[in-house]
Amino acid sequence: MATPVKQITVIGAGVIGLTTAIKLQEKGGNQVTIVAEIWPTDHPSPHYTSHWAGGHHCTAAESDDLRQQKMDTETFHVFWEMSAPGHPAEKCFIRTPQYEHYFEELGHPRGLETMPDFKLMPKSALIPEAVFGISFTAISFDPPMYLDYLHKRFLDAGGKMVHGSVQHIKQVVEGGAAIFESGGTPAPPDAVVVCAGLGARTLGGVEDKTVTSVRGQTVVLHAPWAKFGSTRRVIEDEMISYVIPRHNGNIVLGGTLNVDDWYPLPRQETKVAIMEKALALWPEIAPPEVRKERKPTIEDLYPIFVEDGLGLRPHREQGIRLEVEWMESNSAKAPVVFHYGHGAYGFESSWGSASMAVELLENALKERR
Ligand SMILES: Cc1cc2nc3c(=O)[nH]c(=O)nc-3n(C[C@H](O)[C@H](O)[C@H](O)COP(=O)(O)OP(=O)(O)OC[C@H]3O[C@@H](n4cnc5c(N)ncnc54)[C@H](O)[C@@H]3O)c2cc1C
Repeated sequence: MATPVKQITVIGAGVIGLTTAIKLQEKGGNQVTIVAEIWPTDHPSPHYTSHWAGGHHCTAAESDDLRQQKMDTETFHVFWEMSAPGHPAEKCFIRTPQYEHYFEELGHPRGLETMPDFKLMPKSALIPEAVFGISFTAISFDPPMYLDYLHKRFLDAGGKMVHGSVQHIKQVVEGGAAIFESGGTPAPPDAVVVCAGLGARTLGGVEDKTVTSVRGQTVVLHAPWAKFGSTRRVIEDEMISYVIPRHNGNIVLGGTLNVDDWYPLPRQETKVAIMEKALALWPEIAPPEVRKERKPTIEDLYPIFVEDGLGLRPHREQGIRLEVEWMESNSAKAPVVFHYGHGAYGFESSWGSASMAVELLENALKERR
């Protein structure tokens, strides 16, 4: 007898919800529905962090954090494949030289020594006051474009999308995503996966108060001549300076790491500070015709200004939550996989993290049999 198709409901359509949903589809035997307040196709909102990532794959996993290293490595391989010429997602990515400048001597280059073209930088190539530097080929991505790609891939594989704001997980355990559809037929799913990002703090049945916002403000410029990424690896005044290139010629200048700051709009003084710091470190971001004539100022960046970026990173004190619990509502009962809290590294850990979430879910469903 054929195994019946499992009905899985995922809460959340950020990079974590979409990637997890696709992994579940690719396992086979699952009909996946995502219910989310905000989708990639909706108006950009600070309630949807994924739109605002920088972003690049530049692992920040600690040397003793094997779980995080595993996630980041798996994701790197997937991104490498997707960024190859001819892949349908190719234009979501760009492979460029990356320069990382540190302000303390590191005994090890943070696990980055396996990156393609890895080299120690000569002292002469370091930015002022840096004491150590490495370069390698990094993969940067365009989050809105990549999220559209994931969304389409999910729908093309037969995934179902439902707009809805879940108050308590039990609502979905009993009725599935159909409770949000007019004329839908509510039915209990076989399993639920919670990928609610910052929403995990308030969503009933989770209410994880260790999840908080780490506010990230950035500035996007159109500077197709700047085909490199670089980071000044030190946090000062809740700010870390970086430049990340995108395939479309835009660059992202960062940015803030404001802990427990929930303000949802860009601040003008921060925007100026980001541009001033970035220009002082990397004058190559200014238009070449200006640089030929004189030393550029931030006034020279306004004509190439594209937009302010503002996202609230879903930081969780203990790191990513990957756990499963059975939940009941009325006579319905289902395993609920908790998969949230990706902080500043949701994209670069997405595929590896989703693999672990899927494994948890499969093991829980096996236990029931
Ligand atoms: C400035 C900045 C730069 C960054 N740079 C990088 C980078 O270079 N590399 C990297 O890997 N990461 C980076 N990040 C981090 C990355 O953006 C996040 O880790 C990631 O987007 C988190 O994704 P998520 O799917 O968990 O959350 P989100 O994208 O916020 O998605 C959450 C989803 O859950 C839904 N939801 C929440 N609550 C409910 C509810 N009650 N009912 C229904 N739906 C609900 C939301 O509508 C949404 O669809 C950066 C972030 C910022 C802000």
